[in-house]
Amino acid sequence: MPKAIKKVAVLTSGGDSPGMNAAIRSVVRTCAYHNIECVGVYRGYEGLIEGDFKSMDARSVKGIINKGGTILKSARSKEFRTVEGRQKAFKQLTDANVDGLVVVGGDGSFTGALIFNQEFDFPVMGIPGTIDNDIYGTSHTLGFDTALNTVVDAIDKIRDTASSHNRLFFVEVMGRDVGHIALNTGIAGGAEEILIPEEDLGLDRLVDSLNKSRKSGKTSSIVIVAEGDKIGKNIFELKDYVDENMEGYDVRVSVLGHMQRGGAPSCFDRVLASRMGVKAVESLLGGETNYMVGLLDNKVELTPLEKAIKGKSKINLELLRVSDIMST
Ligand code: ATP
Repeated sequence: MPKAIKKVAVLTSGGDSPGMNAAIRSVVRTCAYHNIECVGVYRGYEGLIEGDFKSMDARSVKGIINKGGTILKSARSKEFRTVEGRQKAFKQLTDANVDGLVVVGGDGSFTGALIFNQEFDFPVMGIPGTIDNDIYGTSHTLGFDTALNTVVDAIDKIRDTASSHNRLFFVEVMGRDVGHIALNTGIAGGAEEILIPEEDLGLDRLVDSLNKSRKSGKTSSIVIVAEGDKIGKNIFELKDYVDENMEGYDVRVSVLGHMQRGGAPSCFDRVLASRMGVKAVESLLGGETNYMVGLLDNKVELTPLEKAIKGKSKINLELLRVSDIMST
């Protein structure tokens, strides 16, 4: 029989994402609902090692569901990568009588949580918080939907300038390993081409395609480029190549950067965070450990952390085809 859980800690780790606050709120309120204690851990695993904890009750998380970032702050911790660091974290948790941990973060944070469990048999549960949507075991990570809306809004604004000046814009969006943001926002923003890490279109084919669009009557174009796209070494080289090999367009680059990670979470992310927090706490209470809570077929389900870490998040091939047809 697993030990009954009476006190749960929650932390946010890795890059922040919109919806993390809504997840903290949900974890805290689910604990309150089940009459168990909850502590917030500041600065991710750094705060865990230092014992930077704060007791949280239902009222302590008022007014945060609509806020981006994370009130608990996030950090990357080198020390937690060492056994000594994790030993300190374990001592802090046991000294504070905490007997379950919810980690909101990406696959690095989950790797840390899994190792921690394996070393100290401490119950852990993961909630995927990252805008990149690059985690196996969930159709949506927290913050992905908000980031999509932020990027589409930016593309719409860039298009106003592109069409007023007959310009070709390369717009760089986040996504080092997967093209979810690029593919979805490219379709929603009416991009002519979408360059993603999963597919190497090739420079010549890109220029051919842009020339074809131009001949078909388009006077401006937008190309969405994921950070990890394989076609050029970086977006500025891409611009130089197209400048040299294509006539008639004034070519510009816009790198959206960190604005994609901020802002008020969308309705979808707030609801998702609320659902995930409930599932994470209730799973811990039910004796489960080493799982990530994810959304699969619109149901909140558990995936073993090991699978979530090792599995690959794949792009939707149907979306690729739709984007090809839409750019006709
Ligand atoms: P993002 O997707 O934003 O990068 P992430 O959770 O993947 O989020 P990382 O920086 O990879 O971010 O990991 C966050 C923290 O998790 C690290 O700073 C470290 O403390 C811990 N961590 C990552 N990998 C390990 C590991 N192999 N062993 C122990 N701890 C780890």
